[in-house]
Amino acid sequence: MRVDVITIFPAVFREFLGASLIGRAIAAGLLEVQVHDLRDYTDDPHRSVDDEPYGGGGGMVMTAPPWLHAVRLVSGDGPPPHRILLSPQGERLDDARVRGLAGEERLVLLCGRYEAIDERVRMLVVDSELSIGDYVLSGGEVPAMTVIEAVSRHIPGVVGRPESVENESFRSGLLDHPHYTRPRTVEGIEVPDVLRSGDHASIDAWRREQALEATRRKRPDLLAGDARGQEVASKASNRR
Ligand code: SAM
Repeated sequence: MRVDVITIFPAVFREFLGASLIGRAIAAGLLEVQVHDLRDYTDDPHRSVDDEPYGGGGGMVMTAPPWLHAVRLVSGDGPPPHRILLSPQGERLDDARVRGLAGEERLVLLCGRYEAIDERVRMLVVDSELSIGDYVLSGGEVPAMTVIEAVSRHIPGVVGRPESVENESFRSGLLDHPHYTRPRTVEGIEVPDVLRSGDHASIDAWRREQALEATRRKRPDLLAGDARGQEVASKASNRR
């Protein structure tokens, strides 16, 4: 998969793209990420990308021409990439959306700054608007990193053990079960006996039960009011 990011702060991606799973995925050629400085697509000597809003009011608005130029040039002439504007007004990113995006060959991520981006950018060169949650950040860079990290976990080969991704929270409609490692006792709290029993059927059953319990306790909304959630809950109960 190839991802192009357009931002006025390309430097913030440097460490992120070199570290951990993302760094290894890029080194292995499983993922390509190109970060573009929006200011390189301006045609004024000051490389300015913002102006005062029509109608007045606070804050500066990012001008349309550099965005249109950047998105079109970065998109190229080949098969059209999926162009995403990171925005608090967008559709909320969730596991289903992440898996859908992982099926795309190319993504272009537009990172806004300031008060807003001129609305005509959304109208002319954006396929979807994505939000990482109902709060407002100062820029789209952290949301873009969130998209890259979440999506890359679904590219075959990026996560060493595919079952890690298969068993993660949300995948089965439930949260993940609790995990323990050494030492066996931490401040008087023991690792549950079943996990040291070597009985894999019992361990699997314990994990399913704990996943259901964690979901009921922390995210009952995943089970309630949703036919699939009810089905998952009833299947998990029947397996006990
Ligand atoms: N005035 C805008 C509003 O209220 O909808 C918020 C602009 S915000 C200060 C600047 C940029 O940060 C946005 O253009 C967007 O790219 C990014 N951003 C902020 N919060 C975000 C969120 N929750 N999800 C995705 N992007 C976000």
